[in-house]
Formats: sequence, structure tokens, C-alpha cells
Amino acid sequence: MIDFKKVISRSSYGRGSRCSKSLWLHRNRSKNTRSLPNEGKLIKLASNQLVDAAAQLFQTEPFLCARLSLEENKDWDASVAATTAAIENGETVLANPSFYGNDLMCDIHYLQKNKSGSWKAFIVKSSTKVSDNSKEKATFQLHTLKESGLKISHFYFLTINNKYKRAEKLDHHQLFKKTDILPTLNKLEAPLKATIIKLRKTLTLEQAPEIPIGEYCLSPYNCEFKSNCWKHVPKDSVFNLRRVSRETKFKWWNNGIQTINELQQSKYEAGSLLSETQGEKYVDQLGLTEFMSHIKFPVLFLDFEAYLPALPPFIGVKPFQIIPFLFAAYKCESIDQPPSFHSFIGTPKKDPRKQFALHLIEKCSNVNSILVYDPMTEKKVIRGLIREFPEYVVELEIIISKIIDLAIPIRNKQFYLPAMKGLSSMKHVLPAVDASNNYNSLSVQSGRAASQLYQILCDEHHDRNEEQELDNLIEYCKMDVYGLVQVYNAFLKALGRPIVSFN
Ligand code: SF4
Repeated sequence: MIDFKKVISRSSYGRGSRCSKSLWLHRNRSKNTRSLPNEGKLIKLASNQLVDAAAQLFQTEPFLCARLSLEENKDWDASVAATTAAIENGETVLANPSFYGNDLMCDIHYLQKNKSGSWKAFIVKSSTKVSDNSKEKATFQLHTLKESGLKISHFYFLTINNKYKRAEKLDHHQLFKKTDILPTLNKLEAPLKATIIKLRKTLTLEQAPEIPIGEYCLSPYNCEFKSNCWKHVPKDSVFNLRRVSRETKFKWWNNGIQTINELQQSKYEAGSLLSETQGEKYVDQLGLTEFMSHIKFPVLFLDFEAYLPALPPFIGVKPFQIIPFLFAAYKCESIDQPPSFHSFIGTPKKDPRKQFALHLIEKCSNVNSILVYDPMTEKKVIRGLIREFPEYVVELEIIISKIIDLAIPIRNKQFYLPAMKGLSSMKHVLPAVDASNNYNSLSVQSGRAASQLYQILCDEHHDRNEEQELDNLIEYCKMDVYGLVQVYNAFLKALGRPIVSFN
């Protein structure tokens, strides 16, 4: 039986090596904080599809020791027992085997037995390169496999070859690039062992260790205990400043400069940053009027959602090629008429691109201006559609020519609200122009979650309510495009003009 008070898993090692307090708090947390957020689950489920696909690389069908699952819900005792039994039964290729030895535990995507009795280990990555963070996690896995009594001859990363173009059948041997990183991991093992000794000590403490706040609270993601550890950080702290590196902010903080006020009194140069953070509402009437003069009714507010699958789903598609699957639009015939809502969403598992292009052409045909916020993705998608369907080049080029970027007045400082905190991304602009607009009530709350969810729906074996999830995706995109109307309305209000009303 695994001793869950003492055991260190791959994820707890990663957590503890960044901050031992985080490891202690996580181990002693109340049960109701255990589940992964929805977005995390979607990302994990989508990456499981890629791991399943890598099974095709082996001549023998891998023996499935445990279903790939979200780590928090995994029955580790049962998975370790199933792995031990599979090895004793002479299975030579194992999928998702789990190991426990010397109070360390891990699983790994695949193991393949050599004739000599040693094993090759495989980790599947949904990327073309391997980060240092991935190498550190792999070193933990290598060490745990050894502690569990296995001899490892090779340790492979299976990354994605983005030069590969899919023919009718997916060629897994061309899609995956195999790199043996055992020599690198062997070098990383000594420092890893030293960290494990420290973490074991942390787990025996009666109280959480005293650790000051640092960059590790924010990177690679916001620590779940931040609201507790950062209680003493004042509301007007230097961490509110934008366009300043984290390193600089922590340097100020650690030198006793904690608030923006203290920074102003200090020897540090931060004048231009402060003026943006604390500045007043600003409208360049002439500049904004000139920008607005290019917008001609009827107008279409438009937003796309796309995904970049590692596994090319259709003939001629490369890994991570952008595939649009959803657009939402509000069409406004004139300023005094309420906008009408339109959308298109693909049918999962079918190539959505042609239908997407045709519906887009239809919705854009009778408008004079197409309003998009920072239209890099939209233009990239349309250019991809032109390459794929050259017969629609004229119509699609016209769409590109009608696109007007609503971010321009904000980027050019023709329209500024202090709540934007000096930034022009939609994430910062939308709450500043419309505080009531929030995504909390939606099941899908970010573009990333939307693309992961659509990828899951494209899996033959998914267990989601497809109709409901497609509606959820449309609702998310609708909220995005509603935000575009609010940004446009903010410009109109600033110029004292009538706004677009939904009533
Ligand atoms: S918020 Fe920072 S200090 Fe607190 S546990 Fe997390 S990483 Fe550690």
C-alpha cells in the first residue's frame, strides 16, 4: 500500500522544487480543493488523445495498465498492482504503467522491454521541442523507475515533427520524432536526489515552512495558495505595474519598495509606467473621429475560434496547423437597429474548413466594415482558407480588405481608461469598458479551453454531450463578440454619439 503521507509523486516533486511551502500546504489541504479546474481537465484530456495515438508506434499492442486519467482521481494502488502483475505475466509493452518505490511514485506513457530484461521508456510531448521543465519531470520519472527496480536502457521523448503532412492514413512513424535523452537525464539525477531529501524533510514538518513570496508564486502558473500567502501585499503594490519584468518588481519588493507611492519616492526610474497606471481617462477626439470615419454600416462584429491539433486530422494538414471551427458575429444594419446574432460551428470529426469559408462569405457579403479586435488570428485563418480553397480567393480577399482592427485607437492611445492599466489586450480592455461583462457564468471561459473542448469532441470515444457542448462553445464565442460591440460603444460614447443598443 502506498503511504500517501510520505510519498512524493512527479507533480508533488515539481511543486515542491519550486516552493516547499506549496508542497506542504497541498499535502495538508482540505479535500474540497482537490479537483483540477475545468480548463486544466480539458487540456489533460486533449493531450491523452495524443498519448493514445503513440501506441501505434509499437509492433505489439501495448498492455494497458491503467486508463489515462486526471492524476488527482487516479487509483494509484490499483495501477501499481496492475503494472506489477503485467510485468510478472511477461507483457513486453506497457501503456501507462505506474511505479512505487522508496516513497516515490510515478507513471509513464510507455515502457518496452528489451531481450536483455532492461526497458526503454517513452514520454509523449505535444510540442516540437522539450523544455527544461519537462526534462526535470522526466528525471524524476527515471529516478523512480530505477528505485522501483527497473533497469532503463533508453529514455525517449516522442515530440511532434511539424514538417510532416498527412496523407490519407496517419503515419505515426513520421509524425513522432524519437530522441533518446537518457545521458542528459543521468546528469540531472544528482541534483534531483538532493531536492528529494529536502522535500522529505518538508513533509515531516508540523507547520508550513516560512517562505517569502517570489517569482515561483506566479510561474509557470499562479499558485493556488496565492490568496493566502499574498494577503499582506497592499492593493496599490508595485505588482500592479505593467510592462515591468517580474524580476524587477521582486527586486523593488525585496528592497522594501512595496507600493507605487513608495516607488515614486524612491531612487528608481519608473515615471512613464506610473503615468500609465495611475493616469486619467483620455480621448483623442480628432484621432478617434478619424478612425471611426473608416467604419461604414452595415457592420459585422466578428470573432473566430480555431484549434491547432498535434495530430493532423485531415489529408494535407500538418501538425499544429490552424483549423477554424467556429465563428460568431453580430450584424448591425444601422446604428438605430439592434444587432442580429449569427454563428457557424463545425460538425466534430468532419473537416469544418469549407463550410466555415462558405458561411463566412455569406455572412460578410452585404456588409461594408468587419470589426475585429487584433485580427491576427482571423487574417491567418482566412489566408489558410485561400490556400486550401483558391476558388474562393476573391470573396475571401474582400473579407480581409473590409476588416478594421478595433484595437488601433487603444494601441495608439487615442482612447484610454485607467482600468486598462496601460495594456491593449482584449482581456484588459473589456472589463475596463464594460464591468458587467464576465465569463464566470459560462461553461467555457477562454479561447484555449474552447479549442481543447472541440478537439475532445472530435475524438470518437468522447463521453461528452455533444449538442450541449457545441452550444457552450457558441455561447463563449458570442460573449467575445458581444465584447467587441461594447468596445465600439465605448468609442461612440467618448465621442458623444448614439450607441448600438441590443433592445
Ligand atoms: S503562493 Fe508562493 S509562497 Fe505561497 S505556497 Fe504558493 S508558491 Fe509558495
